[in-house]
Amino acid sequence: MEKLQNFINGKYCDPIEGKYIDNYEPASGQVYSSIPDSGAQDVTLAVAAAEKAFPIWSKMSVQDRSGVLIRLSEGIAERMDEFVAAESKDNGKPLALAGHVDIPRAVSNFHFFATAILHYASESHNMEGVGVNYTLRKPLGIVGCISPWNLPLYLFSWKIAPALAAGNCVIAKPSEVTPYTAYLLGKVAKDAGMPDGVLNILHGQGGNVGDAIVKHPKIKAISFTGGTSTGEYIARTAAPMFKKLSLELGGKNPNIIYADCDFKEMMSTTLRSSFANQGQICLCGSRIFIERSIYDTFKEEFVRRVEATVVGHPNNSESKLGAIVSKQHMEKVLSYVELAKKEGGTVLTGGERAIVEGYEEGYYMRPTVIEGLPFDCRTNQEEIFGPVVTITPFDSEEEVLMMANSTQYGLSATLWTSDLKRAHRMADQLHAGIVWVNAWLVRDLRTPFGGVKASGVGREGGWEALRFFTEPKNVFIKY
Ligand code: NAD
Repeated sequence: MEKLQNFINGKYCDPIEGKYIDNYEPASGQVYSSIPDSGAQDVTLAVAAAEKAFPIWSKMSVQDRSGVLIRLSEGIAERMDEFVAAESKDNGKPLALAGHVDIPRAVSNFHFFATAILHYASESHNMEGVGVNYTLRKPLGIVGCISPWNLPLYLFSWKIAPALAAGNCVIAKPSEVTPYTAYLLGKVAKDAGMPDGVLNILHGQGGNVGDAIVKHPKIKAISFTGGTSTGEYIARTAAPMFKKLSLELGGKNPNIIYADCDFKEMMSTTLRSSFANQGQICLCGSRIFIERSIYDTFKEEFVRRVEATVVGHPNNSESKLGAIVSKQHMEKVLSYVELAKKEGGTVLTGGERAIVEGYEEGYYMRPTVIEGLPFDCRTNQEEIFGPVVTITPFDSEEEVLMMANSTQYGLSATLWTSDLKRAHRMADQLHAGIVWVNAWLVRDLRTPFGGVKASGVGREGGWEALRFFTEPKNVFIKY
């Protein structure tokens, strides 16, 4: 069985304490590799390497740094098939999704920030007759990047790319549930000519190696994407050390559908926004609100289309849904279906495991639609993060805004209407960092990405990310 290794100081190495944990393939439910169960000593080693590398990397000309990142981006593109297969096997997502979305996006993340940094300039503020201010944007030093399992390399690279582009050295930790593509990245970085110690990739559990990264005094900033309770713990731990924090956390996003929308387009996009990646995308619209006049029509068509959705092995090109990421997560999602029933909900379709022939131990689940729940019950308030949506009718704009804004979360919202005035009015009033009107998950890497309330602190993307990974220093010169 393959043993994965950490990548420290430009070399693959075993964890110092020699401990490993099992890595499962969700599609078959079988262990297929083991990964380092790293700890504080591995972090110390990586920080020492990063400290040595920082003067080299941060003083390298921005063109050269950009060149390394472009080559890194190209390196992933050249090994596309290998990365796609690894991501699908590790996560359970359909191969087609990894091939169309995850890995191409990781390529774009590196390419985007490699070129963005070429245009990232210091500002100057002239004081007529008095003097001039110029503001340098300096790299922070060593930064920690911690990412989740749902979009493994996509989100890992979304943090690492701006951190590196801005001149920082990175200690990065992918999720222990989906470590494989991050493991492959070490070699690609080396081949791209990245100096040793600039990018260090450590594997293991959040409570061990993740915690050690957050607590290490020489790590100046933590960029974290994951669950809200983990984010809260990280914020509490890092705050007394005055670390810079970017937290991208959970969501419980509303999908609001008006009768005047383009029904056909809304329906096919709503199928995706409900169940893409087995509903395990922080941006999925898990609470669907439908204007009462089209509620029954929507329900009939939606349930029919959901029932026709193929759940199957990720390598099967027919599969629209693959496997849930882990047994533990599948059990959590199924327990929410039981909760929904206790709360008075009716399961219109799904609500149970799907058995895929030949892979009976795999973690498959039927996409699930539930109706009849009050907006403020636990099923409608807590993040389930699986292929489960609720449908609820509404009568007025005021009512739907109240229900949409009623959760502790505020990541994204989708609105379907052809009334332009309503679109502007509601976009303004929705508690969300991102609002899509007549669309879902259309991403421009230049725009700010992140949430409000318990969905996070700070923004990623474009200049926002480069600002996060740099410290402004203002210099005033008297005329
Ligand atoms: P998680 O919080 O369990 O883990 C995320 C990462 O943090 C993993 O690498 C984990 O090992 C690490 N970690 C766990 N405990 C830690 C600790 N005490 N100290 C340091 N690191 C620790 O989340 P998950 O289950 O991997 O991911 C699912 C969650 O991520 C969902 O809530 C989802 O909404 C959220 N998410 C948010 C976004 C966003 O952009 N807002 C994107 C994707 C996923």
